Amino acid sequence: MDGGKKVWVPHATDGFKLGRIVDIGSEFITVEPFDAPGSTLRALYDRTFPAEEYDNKDVDDNCGLMYLNEATLLNNLRMRYMKNKIYTFTANILIALNPYAKIPHLYNSETRHAYKGKSLGTMPPHVYAIADKAFRDMKVSKLSQSIIVSGESGAGKTESTKYILKYLTDNWGTKAGPIEQRIIECNPLLEAFGNAKTVRNNNSSRFGKFIEIHFDNKNFVAGGFISHYLLEKSRICVQSKDERNYHIFYRMCAGAPADLQKKLHLASPDQFRYMCRGNTQYFVSKDTEKQLTNDRKSQTFLKNGSLHDPVLDDVRDFKVCDDAMSHLGMSDDERFSVYTVVAAVLHLGNIEFEDNHEDTRGGCKLADATTKSLLVVAVLLGVEKEELQEALITRVMQATRGGVKGTAIKVPLKYSEASSARDALAKAIYSRLFDYIVLREQLLYEKEGLNVKKIKWTDNTDCIELIEMKGKGIFDLLDEESKLPTPKPDHFTMEVHNRNKQHFRLSIPRKSKLKSHRDVRDDEGFLIKHFAGAVCYHTTQFIEKNNDALHASLEFLFRESKNTLVKQLFEAVEISTGKLNFISPNSKMCDHMAEGASILSQLECAGMNAVLDLMQQGYPSRTQFLELYNMYKNYLPPDLARLDPRLFCKALFKALGLDDNDFKFGLTKVFFRPGKFAEFDEIMKSD
Ligand code: ATP
Ligand code: MG
Repeated sequence: MDGGKKVWVPHATDGFKLGRIVDIGSEFITVEPFDAPGSTLRALYDRTFPAEEYDNKDVDDNCGLMYLNEATLLNNLRMRYMKNKIYTFTANILIALNPYAKIPHLYNSETRHAYKGKSLGTMPPHVYAIADKAFRDMKVSKLSQSIIVSGESGAGKTESTKYILKYLTDNWGTKAGPIEQRIIECNPLLEAFGNAKTVRNNNSSRFGKFIEIHFDNKNFVAGGFISHYLLEKSRICVQSKDERNYHIFYRMCAGAPADLQKKLHLASPDQFRYMCRGNTQYFVSKDTEKQLTNDRKSQTFLKNGSLHDPVLDDVRDFKVCDDAMSHLGMSDDERFSVYTVVAAVLHLGNIEFEDNHEDTRGGCKLADATTKSLLVVAVLLGVEKEELQEALITRVMQATRGGVKGTAIKVPLKYSEASSARDALAKAIYSRLFDYIVLREQLLYEKEGLNVKKIKWTDNTDCIELIEMKGKGIFDLLDEESKLPTPKPDHFTMEVHNRNKQHFRLSIPRKSKLKSHRDVRDDEGFLIKHFAGAVCYHTTQFIEKNNDALHASLEFLFRESKNTLVKQLFEAVEISTGKLNFISPNSKMCDHMAEGASILSQLECAGMNAVLDLMQQGYPSRTQFLELYNMYKNYLPPDLARLDPRLFCKALFKALGLDDNDFKFGLTKVFFRPGKFAEFDEIMKSD
């Protein structure tokens, strides 16, 4: 670090700032930033990084940077992003920055075609390059390949996954069959029921998914399979400020045909408790807004104003979702049933209770103003109004004595208990409907005669046990806590730690080292070391969110429903239970805006070991495989010279017994530690 040298120093909002060293102290380096001459910044030695000589030249692969460190990596990504080059390789990891805008030609069919069969690194970085590599590796190795898409909310995982699916089905679809179409079509459907507007992402996926694409022995797409897990149920009843419930609710209120809206007694979102806790606005594109007649506008209740988003349009997307259901083989009746169940959830939320002063046992009754909602729910769900009412305000308990079941008694519910029972019912109905819709995919798939085994998760049993084990698993402990007279998050947290003391995957979050029971604050939780990294779970809301146990009387009532779909949802309850890094460049969801500090922390979170590895060690000299190949092929036996350049280099290095720590293989280049290339060249020449 010489005086006058160009370096990067940490900066609170930009991540790093470029400047020239003006003073070298015993502890700190002082730098004059280029964008604010006359001012200075101080930085610790180990947080000051050398800058590239040409700091305005970007590279496709971060490994191609002369000085690979956090600052140059961030600078490279940021420069590229501002030029609409959202993808960058770091060897075979792809980093993507969400552009929040359409980039012309980036995903068209010509581009899809251009990447077909091309080795990684021969084309500019792209999600298609990763998809193609997975396909080619599968073809050659005859083994399943996986692409892990990771990143924080809003980073672009869902959109990228869709591009990958489109790439695979477009390039290797059978053309003959509609399977590819179905694989693509199930996305709008899943998103309608499982995505919602949050403050981070207008189209946030509120469930996890594992998508499989199957290829036949001729390497054509033969089918697909989606496993989903853990739909966020609390959203069905309550949303945070500025967030919405699942899209489908708004789509039906905004976009369903007038006669359907009438049959289902739909109204504007502010009329439904389950839709008005957060944001009651619709998404409508400017085009759709123009096309709506005044009549339709008042009918679709646009009076609340609307939001604009490049991807979402509640009016248009009702039709998209409805068409997707048709294409997936759902009849008019079946679709109507689905809408009926969704509407019933909304009306259910409007049923309210009040204390029943006539009841000496402290029970509650239905609030008069909501008896109409009760009637609508009963009709929509195919049950008797009186029975529904009874099941909502009482619960049936059966005393057991000496192992023998006694008579069943009806216990009246308190106001708050009845409200929880109603919410639990809404969550059960909606989440079962969601399961049903995903499962319906699957059935079609089997009809095609392609029986595919469900994936078996075997590799992380210890982690699953920590979570699900009977008795001391986290879920069981949470259920136990919920049954206590006054459940408390800190008590629950303590129990988790106490009952799983020796578990190597569990630890206490760093900030809250526990000394005694009292030391746990209620915003604290536990850390689980998952396969990909440690995740900190804050337990404050665990008890509330777990509060969705449905009592048996409601469960039984709906098993007898006259509505076949509802009956089915309550009869068969089956709970169904995998690199790419994606980055959200700013929290405003807008284009061409790079918040350096945030990008940096996401890069850290992504746990890009390969990157960090390279960063820490620094491999400053690099050469194309092809160059090495051309330089040395004549010195070597013809057998070796027949290999492709990358393999040639690998074989050569092995034969020479080079130390693995002295070089790294990139996609098109090999990178050497300082001075090692010269050594290697000497060996070659002397041999
Ligand atoms: P979550 O974890 O909340 O589900 P996510 O990572 O799946 O988030 P996406 O829904 O894929 O995030 O992306 C959020 C939004 O960013 C999209 O709705 C879209 O507007 C925009 N976006 C994402 N990727 C791209 C892209 N490649 N090109 C243009 N816009 C994009
Ligand atoms: Mg998503």
